[in-house]
Amino acid sequence: MNTYGRQPVTFVRGEGVWLWDAQGKRYLDGLAGVAVNGLGHAHPKLLAAIGAQAARLIHVSNIYQIAEQAALADRLAELSGMDRVFFCNSGCEANEAAIKLARLYGHNKGIENPAIVVMDKAFHGRTLATLSATGNRKVQAGFEPLVSGFVRVPFDDLAAVAHVAEHNPHIVAVLVEPVQGEGGVNMPRDGARYLEGLREICDKHGWLLMLDEVQSGIGRTGSWFAFQHSQIVPDVMTLAKGLGSGLPIGACLARGIAAEVFTPGKHGSTFGGNPLACAAALATLEIIEQDHLCENAERIGNVIATELRAALAHVPGVVALRNAGMMIGIELDRPCSDLVGQALESGLLINVTNETVVRLLPPLIMNADEARQLVAILAPLIRKFLGGSQ
Ligand SMILES: *Cc1c(COP(=O)(O)O)cnc(C)c1O
Repeated sequence: MNTYGRQPVTFVRGEGVWLWDAQGKRYLDGLAGVAVNGLGHAHPKLLAAIGAQAARLIHVSNIYQIAEQAALADRLAELSGMDRVFFCNSGCEANEAAIKLARLYGHNKGIENPAIVVMDKAFHGRTLATLSATGNRKVQAGFEPLVSGFVRVPFDDLAAVAHVAEHNPHIVAVLVEPVQGEGGVNMPRDGARYLEGLREICDKHGWLLMLDEVQSGIGRTGSWFAFQHSQIVPDVMTLAKGLGSGLPIGACLARGIAAEVFTPGKHGSTFGGNPLACAAALATLEIIEQDHLCENAERIGNVIATELRAALAHVPGVVALRNAGMMIGIELDRPCSDLVGQALESGLLINVTNETVVRLLPPLIMNADEARQLVAILAPLIRKFLGGSQ
């Protein structure tokens, strides 16, 4: 159906950070399928793991034990400090699981109309519950009635959350992206202090702190999970995008009391956590660790940000440049979606989000030379777009 305004290009092949279209033109991938292809394209170790698993067993059912799923859950628990994992197939499904978990947690405590604190400019997905949790009217418009039970506050405003805590006895959880992706690559001004403040409020009131790391997780910000730049651990965390390197997989992780909420029959998925998707995710985590890709995301993300800052210094119309590792946003003073097509013409894949923010989510494997090539294409395009000289 007509759900996407698509760029006029068809890719037929990829290798590393490069893609080729049907005419043989080569493109530098600055978007990684929107934070999915962390390992770039056609990573040999990933292909070997997927091929071997496909030949062995693709799918059974969650009615049975699944060794690859158990191994992946163990590995994710080890990396994150969480206790249990529910597997599904996408980010919105992972958030649906988190929302259901929070509601059941509330009901188990005797709260009949549980509500969840969510943020302005948040993005949590396109299903009915997750678009209701999303803080963007464009995502919601036309799909009313929205799902109830969400209380919205500004992002990066602890006082607003504390105010809700004083006045609303129905709250059971806070759902927040540590770094807002679709909302414009927004991060808290005081860094870790925001999550630590939310942790304190949640502890004080018996709420669950639920982090949507669907975009920021799996190495993207320079650590396995963005919350690891702080001292806190969440109660619930959701993952998807980079987890399976393109095989569809999502996960809802929980810790402590939150990990004991679901019991058999309360939630489920036919495909979720099947052997093939889990083998791809296990291989993804192994390669990220062996090749030090978290460190690379931090280093190369900073190379891109530093070089862009230098190239765009004093250019009127550039409002801000923000990055957390390889989540990079260049905010302009005007809508700039035209830049996507212009970059494509020049052989570079980028994205524009929240109308005015050029967003880069390169593969985690990008090297410094490729990063400089990216900047060498993008900076002149932005300068020209803003009306200056190239
Ligand atoms: C992309 C995204 C989602 C939705 O993931 P889907 O796999 O498209 O359902 C949810 N939350 C965040 C933060 C995202 O970036």
